[in-house]
Order: sequence, then structure tokens, then C-alpha cells
Amino acid sequence: MTTTSSSHPDAKLQVGRLPHRIDLPRLLCPCCEQIVSPLPALHSIEPCRTCRRPLALVRTMLLQRAYRLANLLELIGSGYGVATSILVIAFVLSGMDVRTFAKGVTILMFVIGSVLLVDGTLSTRTAIDRSWRRLRFGATARVIGAGKLAAGLVAMSLTVIGLSL
Ligand SMILES: [Zn+2]
Repeated sequence: MTTTSSSHPDAKLQVGRLPHRIDLPRLLCPCCEQIVSPLPALHSIEPCRTCRRPLALVRTMLLQRAYRLANLLELIGSGYGVATSILVIAFVLSGMDVRTFAKGVTILMFVIGSVLLVDGTLSTRTAIDRSWRRLRFGATARVIGAGKLAAGLVAMSLTVIGLSL
């Protein structure tokens, strides 16, 4: 049983007196910066309790057994940027057909449109938004969320046009 005094201000000292406990660092949500507890299991996706963004533990590139908590919407957005660059470079450098390029752009529009619609909906519902590495709350977050919803609808409209090509 613990013999530590409840009035002791040093929490780490209390953990040190209990050898069966491990002082794990608390992981913060990459979107709303609140403590995520419990963490999602490996290979599973759990919504953040505060901002509802889909979170998962993903392996870091540098260390094989190290994981970080990631917002999947942000990950897909990063992948979209890389894929767009590759598509444009491939179009410029290779003899890619214009129709094939347009189909590629259509697929990318669908991906980013879906991300914007989900993120915009969550921003308007929770009043928590992270855009351009800045966290915003309240009415501002809801306005940005509405903007993301509008941009997502435009992207989906372009997807429909692209499918008809
Ligand atoms: Zn969160």
C-alpha cells in the first residue's frame, strides 16, 4: 500500500515510491492538445474525446519501436500534398496523357474534398479547429469549419465534373 502523503506536492516522487507504476509521458491530441487517455490500441482508430478527430498511433520513421499520436485527417492531408506534387512532376516530365492527368486530379480532389468535409463538420460541431498549425476555439473555429465545408463541397463538385471527362 502507498504510504505517501496526499499533501506531497511532488507527483514524481510519489510515483518513485511505487515500483510497480511506470511514469509514462502523457500524450496530447495533435489537434486540440488535450491529454488523450486511454490511448488508442495499435492498429486501431479512436476519436479524440474533446475534438472528435480520428487518432491513431503511427510508427515514427526514425525509430522502429517508437510511436506517435497522429490525427489521421492531417496525415491524409500531408499525403495529398505529396501525391499532388508527384502527379504534377509526372505530367511535366513524362508524356502523360491529359485525360490521365485529369483523372489523377479528380481522385485527389475526392480525397481532399472528403478530408475538408469531415474536418469542417467536426470544427463546426465541436468549435475546435486547427488550421495552418494554429489552434482556434469558439466562433472563429466554427467560421473556419464552415469555410472548410464550402471548400469541400467545391472539391466534390470538381470531382463530379472530373468523373464526366
Ligand atoms: Zn483532440
